[in-house]
Amino acid sequence: MKILIAAPEVVPFAKTGGLADVAGALPKALKEMRHDVRVILPKYKMVDAVKYDLSKIYDGIKVPVGDKIELADIYEAPIPGTKVPVYFIANDKYFDRDGLYQNKGVDYPDNCERFTFYSRAVLEFLKKSEWKPDIINANDWQSALVIMYLKTLYKNDPFFSNISTVYSIHNMGYQGAFPAEQIKMTGLGWEYFNSESLEFYGKIALTKAGFVYADVINTVSPQYSLEIQTSEYGYGLEGLMKARAKDVYGIVNGIDYDLWNPAVDPYIVKKYDPRTISQKAANKSELQKRNGLPQKDVPLIGIISRLADQKGFDILAEDIENIMHLDLQLVLLGTGEPKYHELFTEMKKKYPERIGLNLGFDAVLAQLIYAGSDMFLMPSRYEPCGLGQLISYKYGTVPIVRKTGGLADTVVDGKTGFVFEEYSSTALHDAIKRAIEAYKDKRKWKDLMVRDMGLDYSWNASAKKYIELYEKASDKVNLTPAPLSYK
Ligand code: ADP
Repeated sequence: MKILIAAPEVVPFAKTGGLADVAGALPKALKEMRHDVRVILPKYKMVDAVKYDLSKIYDGIKVPVGDKIELADIYEAPIPGTKVPVYFIANDKYFDRDGLYQNKGVDYPDNCERFTFYSRAVLEFLKKSEWKPDIINANDWQSALVIMYLKTLYKNDPFFSNISTVYSIHNMGYQGAFPAEQIKMTGLGWEYFNSESLEFYGKIALTKAGFVYADVINTVSPQYSLEIQTSEYGYGLEGLMKARAKDVYGIVNGIDYDLWNPAVDPYIVKKYDPRTISQKAANKSELQKRNGLPQKDVPLIGIISRLADQKGFDILAEDIENIMHLDLQLVLLGTGEPKYHELFTEMKKKYPERIGLNLGFDAVLAQLIYAGSDMFLMPSRYEPCGLGQLISYKYGTVPIVRKTGGLADTVVDGKTGFVFEEYSSTALHDAIKRAIEAYKDKRKWKDLMVRDMGLDYSWNASAKKYIELYEKASDKVNLTPAPLSYK
């Protein structure tokens, strides 16, 4: 199959979250299955053109944006270590900025224009290049317009006939909502400003360009694909999700075991595999040392996370004093909301021998935390897929999670980890207590660690499911009904 993955961020070139991991690793796996897969993203300032040896392949492709014509240069480089071509859409006015979507926590005011330009440039570039994909898999609101354009402005162009579309959503919480008048940037007329198309509570939401017009919709776990059809998790789009329910699928992300594997990890102090699992202890000692914690045999719980309410920090905050009175240590790596920075700073002062605090983003320290912790905590309010629990498995670190989204799909209570259901500090506390109780039986605990290390969340299995999904989309090409009506 010829597959184009349109994604606003791709590892290793540009990343703010889990989507970048998917967009970097899925193409690798598809390529190994011998598909002709290519990736396209904006050329942000963050993209290191020298390190990755980008070369310019097109100059000044004309892209209509609003009532102007803007120019796109196209660069190309492979995903490192592969033959997957990656195309970069360059326009310094739009993308030569420090952040991807925002500066110091504030969204760029012209994001609608920037990603309209990107989405339209994708199609203008394809036409120039004469490479015609069978499938376009767009990801999140930034690339959703690619799908809608195929079904509207470009629908009578024979070059674009018979291209099937998949819209992958990585987090319903981000919708690309903009003031209504910005619809003029998109080149789409006011006839699309209605609830069956782009309109969303008086604004436009670019994510709807994917949800309404894609042949197939996909999210990053089966459980999340059901949850987004409910008011609790749908962010106001549950009606649309229900209307499209038969086209909504969920595929759990894989993990790139070239990067996440304690047998080869260059950033941990002692490498190990299931046979040499006793070496994991050296990593725990190092982690304790670096965090100023006593080097003793108490359960050590790791947390690596954005410090946001989505990740369960409100219920953790409620219970933190009680947790500090259990016989355990906590090592936290994260950055985010100032109120949590303050809370954990205060806790570190009060319980210096119980808590290790690392406020920031540190990919290297993260590997040591995965390796050196006994347990890994993810009390998320919602979690489309979650990578932390899957990485933890590989490192023999037992996850404690809330039963939601991808966490519900991948962690089995009492078998691979500890799961609590109710979103409350008492349920969280109970799960932590069960985990530290289980830790006391060393033989059973070792069995649990070894079992977790043996679980296979490589991309191979997930990539096969993506191909099945692309086949479903192909079956539906040109069959997608006109915009649905829904409540
Ligand atoms: P999300 O994409 O919602 O943030 P995921 O669990 O899908 O959550 O992915 C988070 C990824 O980012 C994981 O690989 C995790 O290890 C990493 N990560 C999160 N916070 C940090 C941090 N402060 N430092 C290093 N890595 C982090």
